[in-house]
Amino acid sequence: MKQTPSTIIIKFGGTSVATKEAVLAIVAIVKRYRKSRPVVVVSALRGVTEGLLALAKCQKSGVRRRILALHKMHQELASDLFSSEKDLAEVMAYVDAQLAITEKVARKGRFSHETMDKLVSAGEIISSFIISHALVVHGIDSRQVISTEIVSTDDNFIQAEFEPRKTEKNARKILYPLIRSNIIPVVTGFLGSTKDGRITTLGRGGSDYSASIIGRSLDAKEIQIWTDVDGIFTADPRVVKNARIIEDISYREASEMAAFGAKVLHPRTIRPAVEKNIPVRVLNTFNLNAQGTLVSPRSTGIGLKAIAFKKSVVLVNVYSDTMLFSRGFLARMFEIFARHQISIDLVSVSEVSVSVTLDNVGHLDGAIKELQTFSKVSVHKDSFGMISLIGEGIASAQDIMMDVSAQFSKHRIPLRMISMGASDINISLVIPSGDVARAANMVHDNFLEN
Ligand code: ASP
Ligand code: MG
Repeated sequence: MKQTPSTIIIKFGGTSVATKEAVLAIVAIVKRYRKSRPVVVVSALRGVTEGLLALAKCQKSGVRRRILALHKMHQELASDLFSSEKDLAEVMAYVDAQLAITEKVARKGRFSHETMDKLVSAGEIISSFIISHALVVHGIDSRQVISTEIVSTDDNFIQAEFEPRKTEKNARKILYPLIRSNIIPVVTGFLGSTKDGRITTLGRGGSDYSASIIGRSLDAKEIQIWTDVDGIFTADPRVVKNARIIEDISYREASEMAAFGAKVLHPRTIRPAVEKNIPVRVLNTFNLNAQGTLVSPRSTGIGLKAIAFKKSVVLVNVYSDTMLFSRGFLARMFEIFARHQISIDLVSVSEVSVSVTLDNVGHLDGAIKELQTFSKVSVHKDSFGMISLIGEGIASAQDIMMDVSAQFSKHRIPLRMISMGASDINISLVIPSGDVARAANMVHDNFLEN
């Protein structure tokens, strides 16, 4: 049997493929990692996925104008990037051929999730062609690879899940020969296909997940996510002024951050990497000297590492002074939420009431109606937000809960709900929406400044 070549995955997000400056950085990065035999994964140009999705919502008469706008976005990049007439013409012919397919789909109307995925796929199909062509122009042998040939998924359109065995087989069959011949594959992020060959997508922001899926399938040495910030911050720097870059973070901590509102990595990114113990590195395309954040299989120490928050969460209170502790009450309540496709974040139970915050509101109205047949229900849609303190061993860290609640009471921020989670990695506090930013800064100043 032939030896499997070792490789790394380097994935570039929408801003990293949108300008000449960014694409030249990609060329430099590929050159820098050439010896590690990278597989490149790309998103659509910034704003293109939105532009494509908008086609499904606009009047038929608006389709032409929007297609022209998409044409222009790509043309601007291509004409900055390719100085020879011939290259430019070749790239724009490809762009226009793809957009012609898109336009046809858009004109048909009737937008099922399946049609949406077909429509939106043009973004990554075009960007991968442009990036691959740019590498070739800069002397790097490269080939575009469309991931519908690799990532095999279920038929849950717009939110598909990959099938590991088939995907692994495809990835190896298609990518290993290129890697062995020193040809850099530039693979579309976000896209997959069903067993019978219909295009699917992995959910918004899913290119990170694609990178991880492909890394897993090839047993990559590392998965690099190149974005437009220096790495994963201790808290969102747009809100928390003293936020700083975390050098090392564990898989579990990074997943928890993504799930509880931090926006650096797509929440599903870590899982495929975990299965093969592959380190994930978050890096900045626009600052090649920053060392980034390493997300690693190892634990990186105990205690508070980062703060995530959601400015608003939906809070549902269910009261029943007679029923609550009767057998099966909670089961009945959760069954109703599940049936209405509502998933729950936090739960707290008192003598006469249950409070839950929702991760996704599903068909909330229907659920409420059913709950009201045996309990009193109140729903708060914009009043509350949530702040999550994240770090391995946090809940058992000495006195942290006491110190945190002392801080909140000192700053007069009322705690509506507290949840420590069973996994000892997250303490989440539900507080008034208007206090979230202040609370995040306060917790950061008190517990994350050295
Ligand atoms: N282009 C897709 C989106 O915006 C996937 C990605 O960029 O990760 O959702
Ligand atoms: Mg992204």
